[in-house]
Amino acid sequence: MRSEDFPHDIQPYLVPGPEGRLIYRCLGCGGEFGIETLLYICPDCRSVLLLHDPDFARLKKISGRMWRKIFDYRRMLNIPALNGIYRYHEFIGPIMPMDSIVWLGEGHTPVVEASSYLQELAGAKFFFKNDGQNPSASFKDRGMASALSYIKYLLEHEYVDDILAVCASTGDTSAAAALYASYLHPRVKSAVLLPHKRVTPQQLSQPLGSGAMVFEIPGVFDDCMKVVEQLSENYNVALLNSKNAWRILGQESYSYEVAQFFEYDMKNRVIIVPIGNAGNITALMSGFLKFHEIGIIEELPLIIGVQSVHANPVYRYYLEEAPEKRRYEAVHVRPSVAQAAMIGNPVSMPRVIRLVEQYNRIAGDKMVFVVEVSEQEIMDWHLIANRHGHVSCTHGGECLAGMVTAVKQGLIDASHSVVLDSTAHALKFSNFQEMYFENRFPEEYEVIPKPELINAPMLVRPADLEEYPEPGRPLAGKSLDRFIDRVSEEIASRLDLKKV
Ligand SMILES: *Cc1c(COP(=O)(O)O)cnc(C)c1O
Ligand SMILES: [Zn+2]
Repeated sequence: MRSEDFPHDIQPYLVPGPEGRLIYRCLGCGGEFGIETLLYICPDCRSVLLLHDPDFARLKKISGRMWRKIFDYRRMLNIPALNGIYRYHEFIGPIMPMDSIVWLGEGHTPVVEASSYLQELAGAKFFFKNDGQNPSASFKDRGMASALSYIKYLLEHEYVDDILAVCASTGDTSAAAALYASYLHPRVKSAVLLPHKRVTPQQLSQPLGSGAMVFEIPGVFDDCMKVVEQLSENYNVALLNSKNAWRILGQESYSYEVAQFFEYDMKNRVIIVPIGNAGNITALMSGFLKFHEIGIIEELPLIIGVQSVHANPVYRYYLEEAPEKRRYEAVHVRPSVAQAAMIGNPVSMPRVIRLVEQYNRIAGDKMVFVVEVSEQEIMDWHLIANRHGHVSCTHGGECLAGMVTAVKQGLIDASHSVVLDSTAHALKFSNFQEMYFENRFPEEYEVIPKPELINAPMLVRPADLEEYPEPGRPLAGKSLDRFIDRVSEEIASRLDLKKV
């Protein structure tokens, strides 16, 4: 719809301009720093930062009801900059001019209700939000759209010259980083560090295809992260890991979209996300808190983070009920099918600790929980979901397994409706499905295939034929007729079909 056709009271708010201020705020010492330079940790105390809008309360001048209308009307606009995460511009990046915004198709991913059969099987009413339907096939695109829009802004305002963007990755961060950086090529170039043999072939092909420099490092993600940190502290590079607070800001769009999908009614809603480096759950809490503060939503949803027993530092931390007794300890990870969450020392842990406390306080009750699931449960529920009409990745399976656990623990009951984050597309992790179907899981994964979940192609090549078609050598005449007859017969017999 064209701007002039929108209701008059909406028109002034439809297309936002740059406004307000953003600053980096340190979670350790509370120090505040300007955003004209790229900063990842506090120069004073080395803690992680979050972006803070010092005049955030100005957004209260517009009522919650009006904000809801603004976002709903923005759905009808045809302005690429506002087609993605910046529909929520005032919350995602108020300082961002429209022409700095990079939009490659990310955001507004579908929320798909689970089949009724699957809901019954799992014991709760639930939906998948398919973040695998983002351009690089994972939710990481949300944060990259924000981080690279900011870099474009810095370049256009000549705060920086050319940029070399670097990140360590469990696979999807590098795919997203390389994609968005390549869009700004040649002023932006990218290099990614991956743990050797710990990303899937699809994930490796993505940054290669985007033209990034790809480095494979022995060890696990946590080792790559240390190298990248060293690089970012000693050389002139832009860090694109979730230490980069702009990524968190962009990922908050997930919360806003969920709220908008449910007409901003968050009563009795539950959101379940996998936890790896803990950027996603940080953004989830932060996003809902902001919408709540401005009165766009009236209630905060229940949030459940899920970790595998093979990579569970956040779960372990919250096992201790008494906050003053909790002690954070990094863990050594073991191989996990939720490979993108195979992280033993999450960078965003200080952000999580801060936000969980704030979230529970504002909600007036304990509203954030972390549950733990086995590799077997992740794999089984991942396959079960996809046998019932979904395209969930293993992490989506982890969320579903987490939901089943939460139902057993009584955290979720019949009054709730649940949104599971399928953080990537199933195809990125099809190698795990393959290992399951072919019973080839290395022992350390601790996954034993269940026969009823296994599927395999069946070759139909009747042995009594003289000739078979081949590419470039088609059959014709009698031999083609005989081929079609015999193959049809064999398929009909295997499917036990009755003649008409
Ligand atoms: C990065 C990633 C995660 C983990 O998210 P964090 O923000 O690191 O906690 C989970 N699933 C997929 C598919 C990912 O790419
Ligand atoms: Zn500090």
